[in-house]
Amino acid sequence: MKKALGIDIGGTKILYGVVNDAGEIVSDVKKTSTPKKADEIFSTLKNIIAEHYNEIDVVGLSSAGAVNLENTRVLSSTPNLPDGYNQIDFSTLCDKKVYVENDANCACAAEYKNGAGKGFNTVLMITIGTGIGGGVISNGVLFRGSRGNALEVGSMKIFADKRQKCTCGRYDCWESYASGTGLKNCAITGAREYLEFKASIYKDKSPEEITTYDITDGIQKEDAYSIKVFNQWMEYMFVGLVSLTDIFNPDCIVISGGMCSFVDVEGLEQRINAESVVTDVKVRRATTGNNAGMIGAGVLALG
Ligand SMILES: [Zn+2]
Repeated sequence: MKKALGIDIGGTKILYGVVNDAGEIVSDVKKTSTPKKADEIFSTLKNIIAEHYNEIDVVGLSSAGAVNLENTRVLSSTPNLPDGYNQIDFSTLCDKKVYVENDANCACAAEYKNGAGKGFNTVLMITIGTGIGGGVISNGVLFRGSRGNALEVGSMKIFADKRQKCTCGRYDCWESYASGTGLKNCAITGAREYLEFKASIYKDKSPEEITTYDITDGIQKEDAYSIKVFNQWMEYMFVGLVSLTDIFNPDCIVISGGMCSFVDVEGLEQRINAESVVTDVKVRRATTGNNAGMIGAGVLALG
């Protein structure tokens, strides 16, 4: 069985371990801080590879940002990674094959191979954190688009009348409604528009101060305003997911990311199956967690 060194390059830490082609981790998982300079990241990666060089056939890297079609460079500037990072040619790290892929695509590959999407034909993975990322794998093949930028689903527009400005500077991106930031935006809009806010446990807070934690905590306390905000957030999530279901015809949608534990996956599954032209779609929560990038990068590098 061939093995890959899977390396997940995050904004604050680099996580790595040896992965086999079934997507199983077969070594200890180690981590180190992400250096502040691009050349230091390069030398850190070289050292990590040297540590495992004799046990592996290939190296897979998971990174934020859009990746070129040759899977050797990260093209877009990524806010959490230093200047010069997009100049790195990762294929020069060692004389074995080095393969870099976008982190959402890697997470999709991990879930497809050995996570919540295992055994399904077409997996659509949606990562919900501060923003929204996505990936699709069908018949084992990752859908990358003409330049490797496919599935930038967070930027999908869901309204045409410029209702809400997104952090990217454009209007009405799906992620400004359905991500963690989106839940906060729903809380702000709801505080201004819902009558329930006047009787809410948060009525004395200014709308901008209400956190996503307040909303999830408010639901536990049966606060009508929090419940209405959450339902609106789920409505926005549904609107995006049902369209993506009609486009990609997945048999499994995997929800991952920092916000995934809050998502009502059962409710989404029911509504998507009721309202999509596509039938028999399962909606599942991701299971590979923090190891997703590492496993997916390894699996894709071996593929
Ligand atoms: Zn945007």
